[in-house]
Amino acid sequence: MLTKELIEQSSKYLCFTYNRYPIVFSKGKGCKLWDVDGKEYLDFVAGLAVVNLGHCHPSVVRAIKEQAEKLIHVSNYYHNEPMIELARLLCENSFAEKVFFCNSGAEANEAAIKLARKYAKENLGKEKFEIITMLKSFHGRTMATITATGQERFHKGFEPLLEGFKYVPFNDLEALRRAITEKTCAIMMEPIQGEGGVNVPSKEYIQGLRRLCDEKGLLLIFDEVQTGIGRTGKLFAYEYFGIEPDIMTLAKGLANGIPIGAMLTKDKFASAFVPGAHASTFGGNPLATAAALAVLHTIKKEDILRNCNIVSGYLINRLKELMKGFDFIKDVRGIGLLIGMELTFDAGDIVKKCMDRGILINYTNGNVLRFIPPLIVMEDEVDVLITALEEIFLGIAK
Ligand SMILES: *Cc1c(COP(=O)(O)O)cnc(C)c1O
Repeated sequence: MLTKELIEQSSKYLCFTYNRYPIVFSKGKGCKLWDVDGKEYLDFVAGLAVVNLGHCHPSVVRAIKEQAEKLIHVSNYYHNEPMIELARLLCENSFAEKVFFCNSGAEANEAAIKLARKYAKENLGKEKFEIITMLKSFHGRTMATITATGQERFHKGFEPLLEGFKYVPFNDLEALRRAITEKTCAIMMEPIQGEGGVNVPSKEYIQGLRRLCDEKGLLLIFDEVQTGIGRTGKLFAYEYFGIEPDIMTLAKGLANGIPIGAMLTKDKFASAFVPGAHASTFGGNPLATAAALAVLHTIKKEDILRNCNIVSGYLINRLKELMKGFDFIKDVRGIGLLIGMELTFDAGDIVKKCMDRGILINYTNGNVLRFIPPLIVMEDEVDVLITALEEIFLGIAK
């Protein structure tokens, strides 16, 4: 079928929840994608920070194929090998001692919210249920996670929201201190805000926040759905700040595109989850966990973090060079390969112009171009992006 026909069918049969670009993709390899007409694209979106190892990485493809031929699903009435092995690897490579598996970022955050509330009620005091989250945050699209999300546009039309959430400005320790009451049980936040415009907090803030949680007996929940699994140049973003959260959630990059979510925590907090307290039919299924195992092994074996850090430095430098030439570029910021370029105007048009040239980028918070390529991206691919951006910017500056 031709693109036009496919897109007609797409709008006929799919809920109109996305303003999709008029491209139908059919193939991917590394940082490249091809549409049904055979047009090639360079991908700086990576399925929204999901395919961290690039499209169809051979190790992940092999793991999925082999596991699919052996066993795909058994339910959580029973154990399965890849699930156990993945939980062990995640714990050995993080602060965590226990893992709960589910299928998405929102679900991982739901698990975190439920665990924090249950632990607090049982151990800190019956009236402790309030969770403080950040303005400009993003935590997902379920009812609890839109409530946790500190942006009104995600709430509109779905009220009444869940009780017991409160928002404070990001990177402002005093505001946080003032917001804490005797009802507060947890602080939930992205260590680096993704959807909110790639906002990187100071180390002092994160360390102060950890101290505050310890002082007041609050749980610290890090939503690393976007920042986790190497995106920031470390396996987890919390490693940058010299502290550990009490709960961490993962999803996007964990299985390089196979749906999976995970909530990680310490034994102490995990003890609030007893049989029957929480569950997920697909959670920890052997296919998804086998894919995630391949991801973690590949990150180590191919030294993916090293490439991420090298190309990160290169991309940030080249974007900063661009900034010198155009006064409508307000800022370039980010960590690893989660990089934002803030403009003085809506960035949607730039994204479209890049797409016309066969380069996929994305924008967030209205005016922030976001670059989240696969972590295997090379410097010559960055050059292609920079050349295109420069031409587009010159066209605008005229
Ligand atoms: C994408 C994202 C989510 C939601 O993940 P889904 O898999 O879409 O539910 C939650 N938190 C953060 C920080 C995200 O970037």
